[in-house]
Amino acid sequence: MSSDIPDASDVADAADAADEVDASDAVTDEPEANDSAVEEAAKHTPSGAPPLRVEGLVKRFGGVTAVDGATFEVEQGSLTGLIGPNGAGKSTTFNCITGVHEPTAGSVYFNGEDVTGLKPYQMARKGLVRTFQIARELEEMTVLENLMLAPKGQIGESAIRAVTPGLRGEVIEQEESIRERAWETLDFFEIDHLATEHAGNLSGGQRKLLEMARALMTDPEVVLLDEPLAGVNPTLEEKLLDRVHRLREDGYTFLLVEHDMDVIMNNCEHVIVMHQGSVLAEGTGDEIRNDERVIEAYLGEDV
Ligand code: ADP
Ligand code: MG
Repeated sequence: MSSDIPDASDVADAADAADEVDASDAVTDEPEANDSAVEEAAKHTPSGAPPLRVEGLVKRFGGVTAVDGATFEVEQGSLTGLIGPNGAGKSTTFNCITGVHEPTAGSVYFNGEDVTGLKPYQMARKGLVRTFQIARELEEMTVLENLMLAPKGQIGESAIRAVTPGLRGEVIEQEESIRERAWETLDFFEIDHLATEHAGNLSGGQRKLLEMARALMTDPEVVLLDEPLAGVNPTLEEKLLDRVHRLREDGYTFLLVEHDMDVIMNNCEHVIVMHQGSVLAEGTGDEIRNDERVIEAYLGEDV
């Protein structure tokens, strides 16, 4: 099949209908259409803003400053790598972006909108998700159930709507379209044969595929992947990366934290290097590899 699973617009429409509509969301100024502006706009969203921008992000835990003024942006449709030595603040940055942690200072912009401090489910509704390890409760459920629980804005989540006469049909219809999308997503990741398996019985690599499949069920624009290849065998690693590339061709944007420098160099066209909580350097893989500051930050580690 082609990699066009994001096209479950029926699910998205239903989700939109369930959301309260903020009209200001829909109004964006188009950039002036001279040639370079058009080229620039192709890399950005209609508002001209990058899908994700982090500005002066700070996160302190007591006396520990995990993130210390990180500023960067992620271009529309890119596969951007975020690297840095252990403890550089990569995971904390991810957690601040996706609302798991509230930043101590600084801002997070999604498509130009200030979304600093929103909760993870609110971020997911906007279209920004990170993958999560399958939680204990979800291990007891089947792979298919795991996917069906993931989408944002399900009408059925709202008890009042579920019991309102006339909306029951809508709820059932939506559940059907979510089920359909779940199967398409399972098929896309080639884990459809595991649909009725309990998530707790999956191998490490299969879990990673399920984690990414769950993230995609929320119909995101931007997906943050924190070490998605940890403990994954080479065959599944190749499959996972292949799916990321296919999704990217469909317009998804990815920010990837990964230890394996070869994976970063071979797959990411743009690399951001964090060190001691802030951005030390960014550029192409080659630029980063030859950057003295980066080499020094990684002293003793292979770059
Ligand atoms: P990375 O993902 O780049 O390895 P982290 O963001 O996990 O780095 O950690 C950055 C720093 O913040 C480390 O010194 C880590 O010990 C500290 N840290 C991360 N999370 C917490 C927390 N919940 N409480 C206290 N310190 C933390
Ligand atoms: Mg980490």
